[in-house]
Amino acid sequence: MKTIHAKTIRNSSDWLDRASCRSVGRETFYDGSAEGRQAARLVCTRCHVLLECLADTQALEAAAEGRWGMAAGLTAPQRLALVWEERLHGARPDAAKARELTDWGWRKALRRHHGRGLTLGEITQAIGGTTPQHHVTTRLALWWLGLDGARVRPRAADDLTPKWQRVVNEHRGEIEGIRAAGGNRFDVSAYLGVSISCAELAIARVNKLTAGVLEVAA
Ligand code: SF4
Repeated sequence: MKTIHAKTIRNSSDWLDRASCRSVGRETFYDGSAEGRQAARLVCTRCHVLLECLADTQALEAAAEGRWGMAAGLTAPQRLALVWEERLHGARPDAAKARELTDWGWRKALRRHHGRGLTLGEITQAIGGTTPQHHVTTRLALWWLGLDGARVRPRAADDLTPKWQRVVNEHRGEIEGIRAAGGNRFDVSAYLGVSISCAELAIARVNKLTAGVLEVAA
C-alpha cells in the first residue's frame, strides 16, 4: 500500500497533497542502504514542496529531538548537522538558493570543485560565497546532489595521518563546542560528516588535550 511519507513526519500541512512521496512507498524513506537513500533523495529533490518539507521537518524534529529515515532529501545525520551548523555558527541554509545550486550550471561547477578535492569552504569560495550562511547553503546543495559535503578536508595523496587525527587538527574547537553544549559522538559524527568510530577517537583525543591544557593552566 502506498502512504504519504511526509504525513508520517509532521502533523498536517496544506502542501501535503503536492508531496511527491504521496505516490511512493513509505519504506523507501527508511531503507538503510545506500541505494535506498539515493532513491529517496531523488524523490525528494524532484518534489515541488521540498523547501516547505525541509522547514517543517526541522521544526518538528527540533521539538521531538529525534530523527529517523530520509526526509527533505536528507539523511537523519545530515539534518542533525544542520542543527549544529546553527548552534556553532549561527547559520541556517538558504534552502531556495541551495536548490538553485542543484540546477544544471551550478551543479556542474559544484561537482567539478568537489571532484578536485576542495574543502567545503573552498568550494563555497569558488562559487562566490564568504559567510557562514553561504557555507551551510553550499553544504545543503552538495547533499542534495548526493555528494558528501563533509567538513573534513579530503586526504591528500601523500598524507598518512589517521583521519581522526586530521579531524582533531582541523576541528578541535568545534568538537569542544559540541561537547560543551552537551553533544555526543553522534553529534560530532553528523556535524563533521565522519564515521561514529572516527568521532569517538577524535573526542577522546580532544578530551586529553583539554585536560592537558587545564593541568598547565592550573
Ligand atoms: S521533500 Fe521528500 S519527504 Fe518531503 S514531501 Fe517531498 S518527497 Fe516527501
